[in-house]
Amino acid sequence: MHIIGGGLAGSEAAWQLARRGVPVRLYEMRPARATEAHRSDRLAELVCSNSFRSASLDSAVGLLKEEMRRLGSLVMQAADAARVPAGSALAVDREIFADEITQRIESEPAVEVVREEVASLARFAGDTVIVASGPLTSTALYEDLRSLLHRDHLYFYDAISPIVTAESIDQTVVFAASRYGKGGDDYLNCPLDRAEYNQFVDAVLGAATVPTREFEKCIYFEGCMPIEELARRGPQTLAFGPMRPVGLTDPRSGRRPHAVVQLRQDDRRATLYSLVGFQTKMTHPEQRKVLRLIPGLERAEFVRLGSLHRNTFIHSPTLLRPTLELAGRTGWFFAGQLIGVEGYVESAVSGLLAGVNAGRTHRGRRCVAPPPTTALGSLLAYVTDRSRKDFQPMNANYGLFPPIAGSLRGREKRAALGRRAAVDLERWMADEEVDPAPPAFERRYSL
Ligand SMILES: Cc1cc2nc3c(=O)[nH]c(=O)nc-3n(C[C@H](O)[C@H](O)[C@H](O)COP(=O)(O)OP(=O)(O)OC[C@H]3O[C@@H](n4cnc5c(N)ncnc54)[C@H](O)[C@@H]3O)c2cc1C
Repeated sequence: MHIIGGGLAGSEAAWQLARRGVPVRLYEMRPARATEAHRSDRLAELVCSNSFRSASLDSAVGLLKEEMRRLGSLVMQAADAARVPAGSALAVDREIFADEITQRIESEPAVEVVREEVASLARFAGDTVIVASGPLTSTALYEDLRSLLHRDHLYFYDAISPIVTAESIDQTVVFAASRYGKGGDDYLNCPLDRAEYNQFVDAVLGAATVPTREFEKCIYFEGCMPIEELARRGPQTLAFGPMRPVGLTDPRSGRRPHAVVQLRQDDRRATLYSLVGFQTKMTHPEQRKVLRLIPGLERAEFVRLGSLHRNTFIHSPTLLRPTLELAGRTGWFFAGQLIGVEGYVESAVSGLLAGVNAGRTHRGRRCVAPPPTTALGSLLAYVTDRSRKDFQPMNANYGLFPPIAGSLRGREKRAALGRRAAVDLERWMADEEVDPAPPAFERRYSL
């Protein structure tokens, strides 16, 4: 059993296997070969923020963390042990966190940590392998994946547009139409008059942005340009670019707006909409403020905010089964940010499932996928949804959950979704005999 990448997903997968008595070899290329973002040779290093986001069950990522605890996640045990005060968020001391995971994995008798870059997957033919080499997968392995999966199924840069919930869009303001009527009424259009447009551009230009790292500078090719870069080129550039109103008439005014922001349906149930061409490096608080200036989005609930960074990920909808096994290749699994989930928690939990299923394969058992009514299942159903063409990485969020009967909204609706998830996870674990991995250690720190 082999795992490539000792990050969040790979470490969690190794733990799940080892705790089930499956011997595993974990390949990590650091310190011999560095990435652009990692700073140490530790396993499960957090490359940027020290936050695992909300700890509240009112958010899907809070629920996802609970599900991980229930499944015996090492990442959650280490995160809880390394917790630092951060209000309603779960933030950690990154050194303690990574030290804990490294120590636990290295002292597991069933795990051999091999400090070596894997340049090709060919050597694992016939073996069970989990590929969890992350968004900064080494160049050699990236090239190998490109030939294995075919070029079109592997992305290198990631231009993420914000996503809002459908119920938070003001339907009295937006109108449904496609430019020149091509494609029917597929888009929702937020119309801006000249004054609203000018105010919006001023706000974009005044917003704080996340600094661009050296390795990200080459990302800015046309078609992948952040909106603030476009705005900097001239006051009307956005109105001629992603906000062009051509071929559109606002049925309320009977006129063409000065500019529009187009919203594209992002899931089959039409509970989520993405802002088309709105990749941005504005900071998250600025995005919430500036994007709510757009008519129709004043009360927008963002389930994902925009970003732009190097990110190797595969086209999971066409390549992976919901069990995270590569279609047509028994025993080869993918996990982590590489499968198109976004975030530390999401990466780790996919490693957990890959570990569970690789372990089942090892014992000749059928692979399993959690129900889509759970936070884990809804996320994996999204990334492996075969009908999805325009695929972009996704966070855990309640918009991904199948609807519940009744007219509950807001907090009550989220509470009901959370309760259903808890019941369904328990039932799934019992039915499929998915036992939680035994715990690693008692809490040793009080921070
Ligand atoms: C610059 C950057 C900042 C981010 N910031 C955040 C953030 O603040 N919050 C958040 O929630 N998410 C963030 N993410 C997204 C994501 O959550 C993290 O990247 C997360 O670490 C992904 O987990 P992973 O296990 O998939 O990959 P990683 O944690 O990156 O682990 C992959 C491991 O594989 C190793 N590896 C790569 N290639 C090879 C090879 N060929 N052979 C052997 N080993 C190899 C790497 O050294 C690495 O240790 C960020 C991503 C990037 C790129």
